[in-house]
Order: sequence, then structure tokens, then C-alpha cells
Amino acid sequence: MTHIILLGPPGAGKGTQAALLVEDRNMIQLSTGDMLREAKDSGTEMGKVVADVMARGDLVTDEIVIGLIREKLLGDKAGGFIFDGFPRTLAQADALAELMEEQGEVLDHAIELQMDDDVLVDRIVGRAADAAAAGKPVRADDNAESLKIRLMAYYKQTSPLLGYYHAKGLLRGVDGLGTMDGVKADIAGVLKA
Ligand code: ADP
Repeated sequence: MTHIILLGPPGAGKGTQAALLVEDRNMIQLSTGDMLREAKDSGTEMGKVVADVMARGDLVTDEIVIGLIREKLLGDKAGGFIFDGFPRTLAQADALAELMEEQGEVLDHAIELQMDDDVLVDRIVGRAADAAAAGKPVRADDNAESLKIRLMAYYKQTSPLLGYYHAKGLLRGVDGLGTMDGVKADIAGVLKA
């Protein structure tokens, strides 16, 4: 069983690669973004609280996301967990370390998908346009305005995790600019090593 974190700015391809790992390795994808969108759509109290924050591009409180993750760690572990979009702050990283220890589990790798900002903007604006053209729902935060705030949140609050996991000897860098299959192969290389 291998437990990994996928790190990288919005649009880096964390969700895409997580889905491939679920398919190929029977791992379990834990995407706090997906969990929060579900909560929002289900109209729960928590969903109402997070909807505006997410649409703006800011981070939801640590308490809420840690609560969501805590529940999932008690469930089926299958081939291991892929943490996608979590942790996003140092407080979340510390909480994850504690929760994993409680479960007797060990984090194996924190994989950074390394990106250029220009590409991110193109990808996310393109993703919104593709969804709109196909008549699919467009994410409320996939617009230039929110993206600017999401990128700032990434650099201010999440990028310190690169140093944190480097210090723990867990950080692995992968070129996120490659093709989907190229990135997948690089991640497979990390998992084999
Ligand atoms: P992306 O990686 O494209 O930004 P996500 O689906 O991971 O998309 O996250 C969408 C939004 O959900 C974030 O901008 C933030 O508002 C909220 N969110 C997701 N995960 C977290 C987290 N771990 N901590 C705080 N907020 C989060």
C-alpha cells in the first residue's frame, strides 16, 4: 500500500493523474475540492458556508477540510490514498501527519507537479470554455478573477509545503508540463523507486 500527496498549483493536473492512479493501481482518491463541491451541491449547512469562499478562490478553513479527510481515513484504504488538493496549509499538513500516525499508516511520497503559471491560466480558461461549449456545468471558480486568487493562495499558503516535505525527505518533483501519459510515466517512476 502506497500513500501519496499530489502537490501543485490549480490546473497542474492533480485530478487527472489521481484518476489514472485510481484506475491503474486501485488507489483511493481523496480530493477535498471534490468533497467540498459535493457538500455545496447537497445544500448542507457546511455547503452553504463554503460556496462563496470557493467561488472567490480562497481557501476553506482548515477545520472543515481536516474534518472531511479524517472521516475518509477511517474507511477502505485499498491500494493506498492519493491526497489531491490536500493538504494546502502547514496546519493541514501537521494534521495529516497526526491522523496517519493514529491509523498506523505512513506517507510515502509528496509528488510536486511542476508548472508554469502561463500554462495554468490557459488550461483553466480553456477548461471552462470546453465545458461551456459542451453544455456541461462550468466550475464557479474557473474564471480569470478567481484563478488569480487561487494562484496567490497556492504561493502564499500551499507552496511552503514543498519545503516541509523536502525536510521530511518525501518531496519528489515531476515535470507537469509533459503530456498526460508522460506525467503518468514519471509518477510511475517515483512509485517504483
Ligand atoms: P484546484 O486545484 O483547481 O484549485 P480544487 O478542486 O482542489 O481545485 O479546489 C477548489 C477549491 O476548493 C479551492 O480553491 C478552495 O476554495 C477549496 N479547497 C479545496 N481543497 C482545500 C483545502 N485542502 N483547504 C482549503 N480549501 C480547499
